[in-house]
Amino acid sequence: MSDKPQAFETLQVHAGANADPATGARQVPIYQTTAYVFRDADHAAALFNLQEVGFIYSRLTNPTVFALQDRMAALEGGAGAVACSSGHAAQILALFTIMGPGLNIVASNRLYGGTVTQFSQTIKRFGWSATFVDIDDAAAVEAAIDENTRAVFCESIANPGGHIADLPALAAIADKHGIPLIVDNTTATPYLCRPIEHGATLVIHSLTKYLTGNGTVTGGCIVDSGKFDWSANDKFPALSQPEPAYHGLKFHEALGPLAFMFNAIAVGMRDLGMTLNPQAAHYTLMGIETLSLRMERHCENAIKVAEWLENHPAVDHVTYAGLKSSPYYDRVAKICPRGASSLFTFALKGGYETCVKLIDSVDLFSHVANLGDTRSLIIHSASTTHRQLTEEQQIAAGAAPNVVRVSIGTENADDIIADLEQALAKATA
Ligand SMILES: *Cc1c(COP(=O)(O)O)cnc(C)c1O
Repeated sequence: MSDKPQAFETLQVHAGANADPATGARQVPIYQTTAYVFRDADHAAALFNLQEVGFIYSRLTNPTVFALQDRMAALEGGAGAVACSSGHAAQILALFTIMGPGLNIVASNRLYGGTVTQFSQTIKRFGWSATFVDIDDAAAVEAAIDENTRAVFCESIANPGGHIADLPALAAIADKHGIPLIVDNTTATPYLCRPIEHGATLVIHSLTKYLTGNGTVTGGCIVDSGKFDWSANDKFPALSQPEPAYHGLKFHEALGPLAFMFNAIAVGMRDLGMTLNPQAAHYTLMGIETLSLRMERHCENAIKVAEWLENHPAVDHVTYAGLKSSPYYDRVAKICPRGASSLFTFALKGGYETCVKLIDSVDLFSHVANLGDTRSLIIHSASTTHRQLTEEQQIAAGAAPNVVRVSIGTENADDIIADLEQALAKATA
């Protein structure tokens, strides 16, 4: 076998998936089992002590899920990955491993609406908090970091507006303060952006979106770069200090680059239980096999549709970062040179009323609260995904009342444009 590193297109098909050792099955089987027979009592004890890696109980991990974790780590260029029952669960699990009561994160104010709610409301129940800042303002990011800050959090390509974060600049700030940069890479996928190469420590995904790619699965994942020194200071005791539930094991000292992943599974997943089921993992593995092909078509269609919309008289502006008119156009070349994905918004001159009429007039587009499907999707964020936010937060997040969000699918671009054309005609009649 060649020792030349394999390209993305090869890894997306093969990483994590050897022929099944028991049967030779070529596709990754769905291991629909809760438990695994131990060889003997010593084997069981070694597994429970984390002295040997293997399968114990499917709340922790399962061979189908494990294959997906391996594939995600390979595609992101990380040391390891943990799959979860949803993208939101992945966010909680990532924070659980590094946070504690009284601690905070500094987060971008341009995030998926559900994440804004999770970070501004729900995490308070754990005693954690988030300070939201304009992620493009390096001075504001730095000023928001205090001695209780444990991470900087952003989206590489932000949902819904398509804003692109300057990941190397943010990684440098996080580094200077001895804390990890966490990047939600859902909209970009590892085919378009690999945050670890730009200095990120943890990469979060909602597998629900482009990775599975066809709206069949709810899932999430954390990929760890394996490069962060959790023992450089006393900020991350779960990783650097003895863990009482594992006989005083120090995860970072014992497991090095795999410390985060092992802790997230052995402690976080064990006790919070946001496990991905094997059937979902199987669907996601199959989706990922065609990721690069789909993302190429998504990007190709998105630029055609965005350019067409930009020239339509009813449209005020289009946020797609792949447009030359976008303030983020130069950042595409730096952060996601293969394309700016296919999620963006456009504002209608007719405001809220016209947006609602447009959504009721589309035919090919599906009106759903999802993105990253092979089908083209449309939603009015202000009245749905970003409804819980104040109007000020909606505007900051790129989901103002006069804005419609689209996720451009892999259909023929002319058909997508024709549908928008007839719907815009009805909405503005
Ligand atoms: C959908 C989404 C999430 C949440 O993922 P779920 O799988 O729905 O829990 C997080 N971040 C972004 C950018 C998303 O689009």
